[in-house]
Amino acid sequence: MTTLRIRRPDDFHVHLRQGEILAGVLPATALTFGRALVMPNTLPPILTAADAVSYRQAICVEIAKLGADHFHPLMTIKLVSSTTPQTILAARAAGVVAGKLYPEGVTTNSEDGVRDLEALYPVFEQMQACEMVLCLHGESPGVFCMDREQHFALSVLPFLAGCFPKLRIVLEHVTTAAALRTVESLHDKVAATVTPHHLLLTLDDVVGDKLQPHHFCKPIAKTPQDRDALIAAAVSGNPKFFLGTDSAPHPRDQKECASGCAGVFCAPVAMEVLAEVFEQQEALPKLEALTSEFGARFYGLPLNDSYVQLVREPYAVPQYIEVGDTQLAPFRAATVLNWLCQIETS
Ligand SMILES: [Zn+2]
Repeated sequence: MTTLRIRRPDDFHVHLRQGEILAGVLPATALTFGRALVMPNTLPPILTAADAVSYRQAICVEIAKLGADHFHPLMTIKLVSSTTPQTILAARAAGVVAGKLYPEGVTTNSEDGVRDLEALYPVFEQMQACEMVLCLHGESPGVFCMDREQHFALSVLPFLAGCFPKLRIVLEHVTTAAALRTVESLHDKVAATVTPHHLLLTLDDVVGDKLQPHHFCKPIAKTPQDRDALIAAAVSGNPKFFLGTDSAPHPRDQKECASGCAGVFCAPVAMEVLAEVFEQQEALPKLEALTSEFGARFYGLPLNDSYVQLVREPYAVPQYIEVGDTQLAPFRAATVLNWLCQIETS
């Protein structure tokens, strides 16, 4: 039996939701990963130090129930037009590690997103000064959906990187070859997260034959050429690219409907899917750097000191994961994967 032992991974982009859904989806992340950067676009959103502290407490209650003491949530706040430099300072003092910027209207719960980027410059200055990371949902509103990321990556991203040269900036869930090239070309304070699902999906997997709502996410999956460029970046060993699953569960009835939500619930299969991709690329020895080293180093965190085992054995992914009365469809639902991620017990 083939096994691959790697340092426990970190997920630098996850949606854990709230309430019953939080309790139901947390195990997929907390049992495998050492840390996860928790996105703030909940309802209501996480806007301040106080919001982040109470959200962290709610997550920690569930961590305790799971007995997952090794797992540490890394908190974020959402940057909105009312965010001030004082908001940033207070959040940083409360342990918040990143601020997330959503341009207005581009994804789930981004109706209060930012329209006037310039008005936030004092906020970015403060983030730069107190070493808070700026996480970007990198899509330009009002642009054709397939071109939104490229537009953002060629205009806003280089501009921000130039204006704030010491600010660490992460282009989240990169999906295009153009954005990869931009990130590669900018200074080393600019990085990007890569999701497992964007290494597999193209637009064909969303709308090419039958509509597949569980593959619908923002940014939407792009062309085969873009997908191949993402795979090449993931296995490249370039520390600018690291794992952020963007695992984003929505109840079945909000995905399988006439006006479905964007998001792929990939946490339950994240490491297994990555192992398959890296195996196909004959790059398994490079997986650990993507999942367990580059992100931690970018965020200035110590590497995790525990390990997981990826075992090459069949893993039948369920059609749905039941959370109370709610059903959540995981990525690769009802398929059999070739790898299974197991926790090393000491
Ligand atoms: Zn996200």
